[in-house]
Amino acid sequence: MKHWQELLDGCVRDVADLKDRLHLSDDEVEALQAIERSYPVCIPAYYLDLIDPEDRHDPIRKMCVPDAMEFSLGGSPDTSGEHDNTVVQGMQHKYRQTVMILSTNQCAMYCRHCFRKRLVGLSSAEVAAHLPEMAAYVSAHPEIDNVLISGGDAFLNSNEVIEEYLETFTSIPHIRFIRFGTRTPVTFPQRIFEDDGELTDLLARYGERKQIVVVTHFNHPREITDQSRQAVRELQRAGCVVRNQTVLLRGVNDDPDVLSSLLNTLVYIGVMPYYVFQCRPVEGVKNQFQVPLARGVAIVDEAKASMSGIAKAFRYAMSHPTGKIEILGPAGEGKLAFKYHQAKDPADNARLFVRDVAPDQCWLD
Ligand code: SF4
Repeated sequence: MKHWQELLDGCVRDVADLKDRLHLSDDEVEALQAIERSYPVCIPAYYLDLIDPEDRHDPIRKMCVPDAMEFSLGGSPDTSGEHDNTVVQGMQHKYRQTVMILSTNQCAMYCRHCFRKRLVGLSSAEVAAHLPEMAAYVSAHPEIDNVLISGGDAFLNSNEVIEEYLETFTSIPHIRFIRFGTRTPVTFPQRIFEDDGELTDLLARYGERKQIVVVTHFNHPREITDQSRQAVRELQRAGCVVRNQTVLLRGVNDDPDVLSSLLNTLVYIGVMPYYVFQCRPVEGVKNQFQVPLARGVAIVDEAKASMSGIAKAFRYAMSHPTGKIEILGPAGEGKLAFKYHQAKDPADNARLFVRDVAPDQCWLD
């Protein structure tokens, strides 16, 4: 067994193990155990050490420790229409040039705000099962120029599985780059640097054939540590481009100073921010984490005022069933302007529109 796999065995998977550390009462433990039966818990020791145990509202804690609000009503399990975009089990084709693969339902940590809460650590019914079938689909679609290997967390796959994906898709001539979606640099950086260099050697080797991009997911400046920086550096040394998607989360980063500190620091470590996403109205997530759209615009605009051009080259966007919609900003009293950044229907490409948006409205229906 690899050292990173042994470390993963040491994750906290039962909230009872947090009782003393986070000063939980017996009643609280019981209530949170009811939640973990529906939405599993997994917290690596590394990430647990980032929590301030004396602060009940600690943003790091909020992202990994369950909360009673996960059982509050509302929301949908699949807000982006992932089911409708599935072309082969585990493979979605929503945008012309990209396919996305749900390569696993496992993650090093089960983030409480995950938009795939319906499947992470739970059902593998939507997970990729047959690589040759996926390869045949991609080969038959020359308009596809990249494959996003996601999950769950793509780096929770073994190196053997990762190599199978790389071998398969870098061999298809019209595939020009491969993306991996992983939160391991943030939640479990040991996956990258406690692996005897096997994963990074693989990435370097296949990166000679096609560019490899690692898309990660830092949400708070305190997630940027010496270890996460080391993981990023090793990926970069292997020739990977590393980019970041942040989700705007209530109680975590819905503050201009926190957001600008996060995005500026990411640039300092060579990780380019490319989306700040509006949190989706996911069942078990929306009531706890969503920030109203109008407030989100104000936070993003204020944060940008203290950021360099590189740090603010991201888009504030929502991943909607109809496409990725950029949230541009105020457009008169009670109105916001939006623009399709990527559209499912080509007729919507680059379409600008203005909508009335109520002060507490968090999504577009
Ligand atoms: S690592 Fe990503 S896929 Fe896994 S629970 Fe967190 S947000 Fe969801």
